[in-house]
Amino acid sequence: APIISFKGVNKIYSNGTVGLKDISFDIPRGQFLVVVGLSGAGKSTLLRTINRMHEITSGEITIEEEPINDYKGQSLRLLRRKIGMIFQGFNLINRSSVERNVLSGRVSYYPTWKTLCGLFSKADREMAVRSLQRVNLADKLYTRADELSGGQQQRVAIARTLMQDPKIILADEPVASLDPLTTATVMDTLQRLNREDGITVIVNLHSVALARKYADRIIGLRAGQLVYDQPIAAVTEAD
Ligand code: ADP
Ligand code: ADP
Repeated sequence: APIISFKGVNKIYSNGTVGLKDISFDIPRGQFLVVVGLSGAGKSTLLRTINRMHEITSGEITIEEEPINDYKGQSLRLLRRKIGMIFQGFNLINRSSVERNVLSGRVSYYPTWKTLCGLFSKADREMAVRSLQRVNLADKLYTRADELSGGQQQRVAIARTLMQDPKIILADEPVASLDPLTTATVMDTLQRLNREDGITVIVNLHSVALARKYADRIIGLRAGQLVYDQPIAAVTEAD
């Protein structure tokens, strides 16, 4: 069974802009899916409907075979815990340590009076170290976030989502502000999490070349519509 399924999904923003138009497709568990398309094509809208950051107007999205449209309260929290998200801006607390930033991923999803006050258990701290090992930054535990390169900061953001133990990672233009060298370290990290931990990864990218290098499958959006859906071998620069 697919981990994510879109059935006739439409998203019209309250100002009338069409975000998504009649989108239907399935994402198998463990796939590395890249979404390409020009700015404004609907990539970000698509990603944000998966964790209900945006509400759809009609149609149905199912995750692990359960429709998510009507989730609220605890079921919505559990859905969002299952789905890690990273953004073009890394959204780190710049003046705090890498460890603090990674631990904040725990607070968001497992809030207790202790974690809310910044008191973390030994287990949480060990989990933070393991998460940083997964992104090759275990040596930066006590470095201030704003002393890291952009690529390192994005990997801290990935480590922060690993504190949720996510089944799915959504990455919205994660390398748009990075140079080619650090872009590779971020994409390699996502690839490793996909291959070694079986996390389903969905990445929005501008670059078809980058998409071809990493994707199992590429889907293309134009004006909110799914205009192609190809296994990687069939995608050419002309697309
Ligand atoms: P929804 O229909 O999902 O509730 P809204 O139409 O209420 O979304 O818009 C959410 C926010 O995004 C608003 O603050 C709005 O000003 C802002 N917004 C409006 N147009 C755009 C746009 N073209 N791109 C990004 N954000 C926008
Ligand atoms: P992409 O990620 O491919 O650049 P988006 O999903 O951000 O595309 O945007 C798709 C369309 O929806 C664009 O026309 C954009 O201006 C519009 N849009 C995005 N967010 C909002 C919003 N909150 N309110 C109104 N329109 C929006």
